[in-house]
Amino acid sequence: MLVTNAKELLQKAMAGKYAIPSCNFIDLDSARVFCKTAADLKLPLILAFAEVHKNMISLEEAALIGKYLAGQYDAPIILHLDHGTEVEYCLRAMELGFTSVMIDASMKDFDGNVATTKEVVDAARKLGVQVEAEIGHVGSNVLEGDGSLYTEPEEAARFVAASGCDSLAVSIGTSHGVYKTGTPKLSFDALHGIAAALPETPLVLHGGSGTGDENLSRCAKEGIAKINVCTDFYVAAMEAVKGLDDFFDVKADSNAAIRKVQEHYYRVFGTK
Ligand SMILES: [Zn+2]
Repeated sequence: MLVTNAKELLQKAMAGKYAIPSCNFIDLDSARVFCKTAADLKLPLILAFAEVHKNMISLEEAALIGKYLAGQYDAPIILHLDHGTEVEYCLRAMELGFTSVMIDASMKDFDGNVATTKEVVDAARKLGVQVEAEIGHVGSNVLEGDGSLYTEPEEAARFVAASGCDSLAVSIGTSHGVYKTGTPKLSFDALHGIAAALPETPLVLHGGSGTGDENLSRCAKEGIAKINVCTDFYVAAMEAVKGLDDFFDVKADSNAAIRKVQEHYYRVFGTK
């Protein structure tokens, strides 16, 4: 069922020292796989649609798919907008029924990020929607140790207090997409510092794909409550369909591969 209490679910994860996967869907098939797997395993799911995929399906389509499927399956499902870049887009998502939105103004300076995030938070409060924000920048496809600045604990605490966001994406050395230089080296010192500075605020890790099971399992145990996965699903789907020449087989085998990755990450994150 579609649920609105993202913060509560994530705080439960913090207390239980596990993480909930945030799975990026790009069409009806992937969304259905994510919801069905969650229901079969009786585990919570953050069903995420990223603004960057809006040319594949529209926000309206994503909202319809997410709300319909969440209603069909017996698992707590949060319909989440991933990386909303503009206030306007986040507002539209909330009006369409997303129960959680991320506003990513992390490219702005501190005050600009606070102001933009607060604008979304103020609107979200009226609708009972929860808001994730980001501080420190998670790069994309960057080389190890290059381009990702660690989030400062003191700055993170000031940011949450000033913006009122419900959860916070932090930068501890992961990157979006595929890593070109193998498994990244994460800063668990940075994570511990941020978690200590924000004992009530669920922390989010972006760029879970390719980060390595050991790293991700540690993140879940040591302070991250939500881990975003996207690329790994679709890399596995591509692997699974190599050599197939029947479109119906392609659909079936890619869906099965996506499910396997989701089941794997539920185990790695220790989700309960
Ligand atoms: Zn991200």
